[in-house]
Amino acid sequence: MKLNVDALRYLSKDDFRVLTAVEMGMRNHEIVPAELVDRIASLKHGGTYKVLKNLLKHKLLHHDSSKYDGFRLTYLGYDFLAIKALVNRGVFLSVGRQIGVGKESDIFEVATEDGTVLAMKLHRLGRVSFRAVKSKRDYLRHRSSFNWLYLSRLAAVKEFAFMKALEEHGFPVPNAVDCNRHCVIMSLVQGYPLVQVKQLQNPEMVFERIIGLVIRLAEHGLIHCDFNEFNIMIDDDEKVTMIDFPQMVSVDHRNAQMYFDRDVECVFKFFRKRFNMSFHEIPDDIDDSEVDMDESGRPCFSSIAKGSGFLDKDLAASGFTRKDQEDIEKFVEGGIEKDADSGDEENEDGGLASELNESDISGVDSLHLVEQPTLNCDVDGRGEENEQKAEAGQTNGPETQDASDEEDNETMISKDAELTKRLRNQNRRVIASVRGGRKNLASRNTYKDKGGRSSHNSKIQKQLSSW
Ligand code: ADP
Ligand code: MG
Repeated sequence: MKLNVDALRYLSKDDFRVLTAVEMGMRNHEIVPAELVDRIASLKHGGTYKVLKNLLKHKLLHHDSSKYDGFRLTYLGYDFLAIKALVNRGVFLSVGRQIGVGKESDIFEVATEDGTVLAMKLHRLGRVSFRAVKSKRDYLRHRSSFNWLYLSRLAAVKEFAFMKALEEHGFPVPNAVDCNRHCVIMSLVQGYPLVQVKQLQNPEMVFERIIGLVIRLAEHGLIHCDFNEFNIMIDDDEKVTMIDFPQMVSVDHRNAQMYFDRDVECVFKFFRKRFNMSFHEIPDDIDDSEVDMDESGRPCFSSIAKGSGFLDKDLAASGFTRKDQEDIEKFVEGGIEKDADSGDEENEDGGLASELNESDISGVDSLHLVEQPTLNCDVDGRGEENEQKAEAGQTNGPETQDASDEEDNETMISKDAELTKRLRNQNRRVIASVRGGRKNLASRNTYKDKGGRSSHNSKIQKQLSSW
């Protein structure tokens, strides 16, 4: 996706305030009604509609009137929010050329004040694995774009957390600099993806290093799950750096053996094809590990002395919880496929109300209303989790929020009781209409309705009252 950041310079404080208001509205609205944006943004001098028009012009928002009239963030709008927050924090100053297009990300160079060039990865979940995800039923039946924003944020938080933890354990990974929303800032790897390398001085040594990494990861309790020539960078000294961590799983995963073997196989296959390697002479003490090799020279997963606790301790400390891990595994390719084989039929009609059942509703809940605050650090910087983390001195990384953002958000978050009440009513109606099987979730003026007594949803209540 093209990222033209020129408009960033011309956007005013009000523009960002309204953009942030739409983001906040999207926590519990697929499409955010203009009136609600106006209420959340509470611009001092009014003019929300004019600002919305401007944001639309720059393609930072999308206008949607399919179900009811309102707005949602585009990926570009989300990019701008993340970039602005990181620039405000002083992480970098300018955005440069695109250096990579991944399966589900765009990578750009960014420059810091002192001229250091870093890499910025913008996660774009749903770009290619949409089909794979779609077949997995659960939350995404209604295919709304805000799910993708949420998942991209989860992927970024996970990647940042893993990168940091791996770095601390001495793995050759980029230096994890910062993270905001779906954006990860890391050091720029000097080198090329292995897929672009046609010749190596010492292919055996590089191969050993790479297989050694797969084994050492498992010894630390982890499997990369996408360990291939696209995610291994190699420099002129043939030093190896591994990248791309959103799909990593624990060695306790029920498909761990399969993922491990698949990672190993990718490396074997690539080296055989590209460098004509045969694997008879590969020593069985790769990376000083005592690992058994099978007759074809491949390391046996069962013989690896697998560590544990890596995921639980280090990652939880960096803000990525086991629950986040479970959430994302449901969506990322290479993750849990438990829903794929549940014999669930695909429903193509796209109607939300007719597709959701009780468990789907609680899924929607946890996806947007309960989990979000943990991650939504830049908007909701005053959440309980964030306060706890601030107390614990964890000011770097995804939980950090720059002061000006915080000030802005604080004003926005301290909304009057009336708005909270209206939101609560609207959520009740949405849940009620979903349960009642109505397809039209809301009319243009839904949020103005007084709302009757509808079904109660404690999670929503809890979330709203914590606003
Ligand atoms: P995806 O998850 O979408 O596959 P990757 O993290 O693998 O994204 O990145 C895609 C490409 O971007 C890589 O193949 C590599 O060429 C480039 N890239 C990613 N991270 C860096 C980095 N830190 N330094 C230099 N290039 C990078
Ligand atoms: Mg990749």
